Amino acid sequence: YDESHDALSDVNMVIEAGEVVGFIGPSGSGKSTLVEMLLGLRFPTAGTISVNGIDIREVLPSDLHRLTGLVSQEPQLIEGDLTENIRFFRGSITDDDIAMAVEASGLGRDLSSLPEGLHTMIGPRSSGLSGGQRQRLAIARVLAGRPEFLVLDEPTSSLDVHSEEVITETLERLKGSVTIVVVAHRLSTLRVCDKVLVLRNGTAEAFASRADLERDNDYYNSAIQLAALS
Ligand code: ADP
Repeated sequence: YDESHDALSDVNMVIEAGEVVGFIGPSGSGKSTLVEMLLGLRFPTAGTISVNGIDIREVLPSDLHRLTGLVSQEPQLIEGDLTENIRFFRGSITDDDIAMAVEASGLGRDLSSLPEGLHTMIGPRSSGLSGGQRQRLAIARVLAGRPEFLVLDEPTSSLDVHSEEVITETLERLKGSVTIVVVAHRLSTLRVCDKVLVLRNGTAEAFASRADLERDNDYYNSAIQLAALS
């Protein structure tokens, strides 16, 4: 970001298709910066990021956009019903895509408690949805685009008692079919990860399986202890 120091350096990793990879590290360690680069929203000043062997700079932004999805911590709701909030201005999203996304996100279970199901109106300041429902809606919105690479930015604090399960259930359901990076804060989320990247001060301290990290990474072990208590 500025010339005096690099936000990231010495980060070498290969994410295999279908893997679930967790990113952990203290605040400011570079997790968001790396996520933005994996999504092609920001480019490294040195080094390369490649997708199936192709430099990410050579991939058309429209293709990257179509193939990737980001579930952010706080979804932007729009004035409209749930289907419009899932479609989110993308004319290419079909009713079938929406039906699939509603199921895969777990939002389907909420519909019976909403006055008009998928046609319930919500808005930017909507108080009609619980924290967990908002999170499921955010996931449904992204899944409707049928991404092949998905990034989930897990909330640091629980919005309601159900939100913990939302991420875990989604990860378990998608595991193997979608490649996923999750900025993980909870033990239950880390448990679904095939591999975990430990970022410290912009450097990859470790990128390994949970079993390997449990054996020899102090930061990972303190993080899982803290997560277990919260
Ligand atoms: P994390 O997501 O792990 O909290 P970030 O990727 O947000 O870490 O930040 C990594 C480093 O880059 C930090 O030193 C942060 O201050 C710096 N940084 C992040 N975003 C910006 C920005 N937009 N402009 C300048 N520096 C930034």
